[in-house]
Amino acid sequence: MKRILLSPPDMGANERGLLLEAFDSNWIAPVGPHIDAFEREFAETIGVHHAVALSSGTAALHLGLIAAGVRRGDRVITSTLTFAATANAAVYIGAQPVFVDVSPDTWTLDPDLVAEELAACAKRGQRVGAVIAVDLYGQCADYDRLLQITDRYGVPLVADAAEALGASYRGIPAGGIGLCAAFSFNGNKIITTGGGGMLVSYDRRVAERVRHLATQAREPVAHYEHLEVGYNYRMSNLLAAVGRGQLPTLPSKVAIRREINQWYRAALTQPGISFMPEASYGQSNGWLTCIRVAADAFGATRDDVSTHLESRGIESRPVWKPLHLQPAFRDCGTRGGSIARALFLDGLCLPSGSSLSLGDQCRVISAIEDIHRRAAHQPVAVARAVAV
Ligand SMILES: *Cc1c(COP(=O)(O)O)cnc(C)c1O
Repeated sequence: MKRILLSPPDMGANERGLLLEAFDSNWIAPVGPHIDAFEREFAETIGVHHAVALSSGTAALHLGLIAAGVRRGDRVITSTLTFAATANAAVYIGAQPVFVDVSPDTWTLDPDLVAEELAACAKRGQRVGAVIAVDLYGQCADYDRLLQITDRYGVPLVADAAEALGASYRGIPAGGIGLCAAFSFNGNKIITTGGGGMLVSYDRRVAERVRHLATQAREPVAHYEHLEVGYNYRMSNLLAAVGRGQLPTLPSKVAIRREINQWYRAALTQPGISFMPEASYGQSNGWLTCIRVAADAFGATRDDVSTHLESRGIESRPVWKPLHLQPAFRDCGTRGGSIARALFLDGLCLPSGSSLSLGDQCRVISAIEDIHRRAAHQPVAVARAVAV
């Protein structure tokens, strides 16, 4: 039986054609006409003035933080419920991440806790270089409330929109709020170049600074002149061609992922199953559908569900392990964390790719129904404690 993946690439003939065209043009370098066009088309899609194509979403976050003025020794406040790349970008600069819990209503950065942390840092005389809001699993953070708070302290707000291309906040596309935002085109994201990222901003100086740093901070003179140390972070022209093929398919990919989410919601009505809430302030891109499994009500744990899916050739993943629980970040500050920890303990991401057929989705759903039915006949074998 064909294995069902969480979020595999979904490529078309147009991407292939553009890639071959780029190959034949011999613009095989981190410079070329597809990069310029991809940046232009991407900026238009988000409705921002500037976009800089980079080698990864992590690179976009790293340079976005530098452009925001983050320096060695600064605190960088971010959500604990995210992929490690969010915090890694701050650590590369020598800044110290501070992990703040999420709101149970959105699973994104809790604005009240951010306000508390900014007040505490101010009291201790600690400089906060930036706040990074994370648009988790395709759902935007609560930007109005976050901006109100960060503006009060004069701290730049940077968006990690890596998972949220095509989502919106009060009608504004994800990535269009804050000083700048980072996107990822990793293989599992809603559109992909096989690896790559984009930094977007309304601010020309931010975009120019990022572009300069991404090209080894080379001065525009014939000999190689460098006033500071830069990075080799530009996207390849070949990959930009693939990105240009993927970008026009974004609206349909969002529609399909949201439809997949609706099917799961309609079918998985067993007691003990609940879904990541969709916040009323925006529209998720449906990147990944995440459920919670309350073991006592459902009759089996999250890990039981995941193991059973695996035995049927179906990939699933626990919700991100919170960064305040990661050994790599054990010395970082935290504020709260119990909500994120609870989501990690019983949260599961289900196959949600835009190439998932209805038949394949039915396989996922019936596997979950099976385990519930089986558990109903063995009421004792439940609620094993999950050790962290
Ligand atoms: C994927 C992802 C990144 C990193 O993007 P890469 O392109 O893999 O470097 C950063 N933050 C979040 C939340 C992500 O999901």
